[in-house]
Amino acid sequence: MSTHTDTRLRDRHIVVTGGARGIGRGIAVRCARAGADVSIFDTKPEVAAETADLVREEGGEAEVYEVDVTDAEGVETAVDAAIDSLGDIHGLVNNAGVQQAVPLLETTEDDWDLHFEVNAKGTFLVSKAVASRMVDGDIEGSIVNISSVGAERPFSGQGAYGASKAAVLAFTTVLAKELSDHGITVNALKPGTVETPMVEEWLDEHAEQSGKSPDEILAETLDVHILDRIGQPEEVGHVAVLLLSEEGDWITGESIAVDGGYLKH
Ligand code: NAD
Repeated sequence: MSTHTDTRLRDRHIVVTGGARGIGRGIAVRCARAGADVSIFDTKPEVAAETADLVREEGGEAEVYEVDVTDAEGVETAVDAAIDSLGDIHGLVNNAGVQQAVPLLETTEDDWDLHFEVNAKGTFLVSKAVASRMVDGDIEGSIVNISSVGAERPFSGQGAYGASKAAVLAFTTVLAKELSDHGITVNALKPGTVETPMVEEWLDEHAEQSGKSPDEILAETLDVHILDRIGQPEEVGHVAVLLLSEEGDWITGESIAVDGGYLKH
């Protein structure tokens, strides 16, 4: 018998890409707290194993797959292995992503391609692999794509990043339309500044370019969030759980800011 007070994801198998750390870890743990079993797809299996332990501490089953979301064959193999192990997939969170702070005049073709490969193409490949199994198996489910406030209100230096995250929003709208007849909802979340290793790295890069300290840059960044504080990974997880659960059944094609008021500041 479950000891969970939140049972919204009981008996549901959720795949979280980029679940080794940061927001992906927060989402994986939050899903488990709502009763889910979780498969983690990440290029960092040792770190992902720590997330899997946290999921198990919440009472969920967890498996880790070392997979690069830009590798179509690897994604297909991992999706099949995840179904073999934990059963049909009911939810997917496309969270794996990369971000570099690079102004236009220093942006290389490789920088541009990396953002689109991981953030946009990765979302496409994993969505296609999971959605095709949902459709074939008549499984009603939910896809949550992690975009960013940077899709709508990017900072300087986020040209490639912001454009790739805007692509995710457009893709979300199309998937919502195409998959609705199969009982699959598709939405996006737009986090503001969340306390993760990615943000620490971004602050360091931005500090190097501007000559300010990472703490100064963080203070300036938080100043433009109405709530004036950094977000926590599980705060993004709370909203992901809503969208992945039955409570989110009448929400699709939407993009929801989880941003401490950044987009309204
Ligand atoms: P993070 O760098 O801390 O974690 C990202 C995870 O994705 C890591 O575990 C990494 O190994 C994995 N990953 C990267 N490339 C991958 C690939 N090709 N295949 C599989 N896994 C891969 O980042 P985070 O801050 O937790 O961000 C998570 C998501 O949220 C990203 O999509 C990011 O763009 C988005 N986001 C973050 C913030 C923020 O403030 N942290 C704000 C808005 C949006």
